[in-house]
Amino acid sequence: MSVVITMKRSLRSIIYISAAIIVLTAATAILLSGRDMRGEPVAVKPVAREIPEITLDEFGFQKGLYHIERGIVAARQTLSHILSRFDLRPVEIDRIAREMTDVFSPRRIRSGNNYYAYYGRNDSLPGLKYFVYEISDLDYLVVDLSDSIVVSRHEKEVTQQMKTATGVIYSSLWNTLVDNEIHPQLVFHLSSILAWTVDFYRIEKGDRFKVLFAENYVGDRSVGVSHVDAVYFYHRGREVEGYRFEADTILGYFDPEGNNLRKVFLRAPLEFFRISSRYSQSRLHPIHGDRRPHLGTDYAAPHGTPILAVGDGVVTRASYTSGNGNYVRIRHNSVYETQYLHMSRFATGIRPGTRVSQGDVIGYVGSTGLATGPHVCFRFWKNGQQVDHLRLEFPSGDPLPEEYMNDFIRLRNEMKVKLDGLHFPGDPMPV
Ligand SMILES: [Zn+2]
Repeated sequence: MSVVITMKRSLRSIIYISAAIIVLTAATAILLSGRDMRGEPVAVKPVAREIPEITLDEFGFQKGLYHIERGIVAARQTLSHILSRFDLRPVEIDRIAREMTDVFSPRRIRSGNNYYAYYGRNDSLPGLKYFVYEISDLDYLVVDLSDSIVVSRHEKEVTQQMKTATGVIYSSLWNTLVDNEIHPQLVFHLSSILAWTVDFYRIEKGDRFKVLFAENYVGDRSVGVSHVDAVYFYHRGREVEGYRFEADTILGYFDPEGNNLRKVFLRAPLEFFRISSRYSQSRLHPIHGDRRPHLGTDYAAPHGTPILAVGDGVVTRASYTSGNGNYVRIRHNSVYETQYLHMSRFATGIRPGTRVSQGDVIGYVGSTGLATGPHVCFRFWKNGQQVDHLRLEFPSGDPLPEEYMNDFIRLRNEMKVKLDGLHFPGDPMPV
């Protein structure tokens, strides 16, 4: 086994290929396509050239050497049930179970999982050489029966393929992409990278994107998107570019000038304030007199103090209820929303649909609704849940430090050439 594993490692390679995604369905009104990137650099470690003829299966065994039988663990089947079909002596089955316990509890064998029996093909003494149990998509056990019994646990070789995708949006719904051809994980990656610069609720006809990304494979089976390397997004007449950069403690997406694509919120919706009540799952209510959750932070300030939007966004509510008083709710992106309660009045022009920038005045401190004194009850939603924003750890929104700029620019230029080489579906091919 050790020889096989060594060769497996040496074959590790990164292959640049393309994801040619072509969807031409009028029903979905979306057109996507990809560009072939064959001919891009193929990085193979030199050692691989010394053993070019050997190909391995996903468990690291040389192909063609064995006769393989696949089985599926049946309901309530135990290790000894499974092994009993292979002409093994009870003493051998016991030995396997004991050896296995060091790396994996035989009781954790699950029905529905695969196992494989490897028989020697050109052997004067035919018999079971290896037994493989697949723990998951990525983990497996090898029982080596070729000499003394040895059980070992392994991870499958995961290779990354660099892929590309481009798309022009012919409907207004980003979610339509999710429903169609683009890998949902890629949509998730793009949404979080671009959350601060692209309003995914306001995707419109003609918005378009190009993306370079890495997908993980075991053999030729995809096990998910690893990460996005670079993205170009044309959104509502504006171009956004993002490049992944990783060095030392830095990992983020930066625009071509090294500005972080992520922005941070203001720590509070007021410039000067005193926190009069914190977020709590059980607070003694100042008016009702009983204990109930307080899912916001109260900032006390004099009547009429300007209230600021903590981040860029769109006003979704500017209305009155008997509890909230005058309140404003802002959607910042597909992840975050904020709400500001008990205002004396709204700032001019603040109504549903108004776009606001970080620091814009949206209203003034008051005590409308259920309030004992002038304050802002500030509420913060993350993925639809009210959370304590003072306890949230926001990743850095800092620009790239100067000392990394040369490395970044080199990487950015390399990625940009690749992005520029991609064409949107429907565009004429370059001459
Ligand atoms: Zn409050």
